[in-house]
Amino acid sequence: MAPLPTHDHLPGLDSGLLAAVAAGHARLTGAQALEVFHGLPLSELGRLADARCRVIHGDALRTYVIDRNINYTNVCNAKCTFCAFRRDGDEQDAYTLSHEAILDKIAELVGIGGTQILMQGGMNPALPLDWYTRLLSSIKNRFPGVHIHAFSPPEFIEFVHFFNPPGATLEDKIRWVMVRLRDAGLDSVPGGGGEIFAPAVRRKIGLGKCDAEAWLTTMYVAHSLGMFTSATMMFGHIEGYADRVDHMLRVRSWQDKALELKGRAEGPAAHYVSFISWPFQRENTPLGRVPDWGSSPGELESPFPGDVIAAGGDFPAGKRAADLFDYDAIDRAKHPTAHLFGKRVRMSGSTDYLRTQALSRLVLDNVYSIGASWVTMGPHIGQVALAYGANDMGSVMMEENVVSSAGTTYCLDEPVLCRLIRGAGFIPAQRDNRYDLVTVHSGEDAPDLRVTDWSKHRAKAMHQQAPKAAKVSLTVAKA
Ligand code: SF4
Repeated sequence: MAPLPTHDHLPGLDSGLLAAVAAGHARLTGAQALEVFHGLPLSELGRLADARCRVIHGDALRTYVIDRNINYTNVCNAKCTFCAFRRDGDEQDAYTLSHEAILDKIAELVGIGGTQILMQGGMNPALPLDWYTRLLSSIKNRFPGVHIHAFSPPEFIEFVHFFNPPGATLEDKIRWVMVRLRDAGLDSVPGGGGEIFAPAVRRKIGLGKCDAEAWLTTMYVAHSLGMFTSATMMFGHIEGYADRVDHMLRVRSWQDKALELKGRAEGPAAHYVSFISWPFQRENTPLGRVPDWGSSPGELESPFPGDVIAAGGDFPAGKRAADLFDYDAIDRAKHPTAHLFGKRVRMSGSTDYLRTQALSRLVLDNVYSIGASWVTMGPHIGQVALAYGANDMGSVMMEENVVSSAGTTYCLDEPVLCRLIRGAGFIPAQRDNRYDLVTVHSGEDAPDLRVTDWSKHRAKAMHQQAPKAAKVSLTVAKA
């Protein structure tokens, strides 16, 4: 499938260009996307993203999935500054779930009609390859119908470090590990650990985590093996707005490669199916203790340090955010706010979230699904997000341990998710991992239409932390 054409000579706010983008006939350049982000009123940006969404997904249905987040270990050898979940391994609340505990969780999921697990963990050097392959085989033996969506790219990169697989290149080594996990039962790869790809930002917030090239290469290997993946972005911290656009462009360009791979029909090939973005949650995290931009007198009169540094020199067509927003004359190294890069955060609120999500729908013209992040934004902004380019509400949340460690605790069940979708003007439909429909809830027996007492379905009341898990003792050291 050939990429859509760009029209570089047109300004980003050109009405004809925007109509063509919304209709799926043209592609925004990075510079145009940045102009759209800054220049369109929120409602207009939402209208265009909604129009684009309706071209792809129609007017009737919006989807959700019933899966379970399983965070198999919180022991991690990285030290991301935005993370409140990780432990070194010797703390009292460090854990690695036993295989039996994971199987019990999946049995509970199957009991409520769930179809997949999302299994990710810290990067735990004590777990050998065999721990993973035995786990995957046991899950498939006991629950053959459950889709296993597991192990994000940073985990794969650490698997390469831990297991020292054969191969001349990083790609070969990732493939060696991934083939073994796939053969044991892994079905697809989630897009965790995307954060912000721009190197300057990533180096500051993702200490010990793989770089963008390794992340994207891991997904390319998954695609070449016929495994579908998702992509993510966590914004609203030290990055510039251009870094968000740069992040979307990298996903789009690697998606072009994946779709080209598929077109060559050399065997099974897959691609990114979805993109979801969410704002950084600050509680209990080192990055959350960084002062807000504007906390010192006069700061707000200068450009945010992230915008000064944004996207390094890699921004398309030689453009940097600085070139677009009157920062042209700035020598970044000498700019008065450059030294504050990484030392101030610009937290994201609801409208910034909606803008960013809407822009992602317009920029990612080759990605099928855009997910709403109600887990971080709350159910009602999640519902509004369905009018800003999102077609999917993600999963019911039986358990969540990562974002909740950073202070956000929304958990919803199926009736509430269906009610939110119906309240936004759509028919709720349960989907599977590939976005094929499982059940369309158009009848009176829909999960939300059967509820008579909503007091039992309040969002925060349903939150449950994972029980303290028994530690397992493993003696295999880092290879
Ligand atoms: S975000 Fe993931 S990789 Fe980073 S420290 Fe936390 S658990 Fe480890």
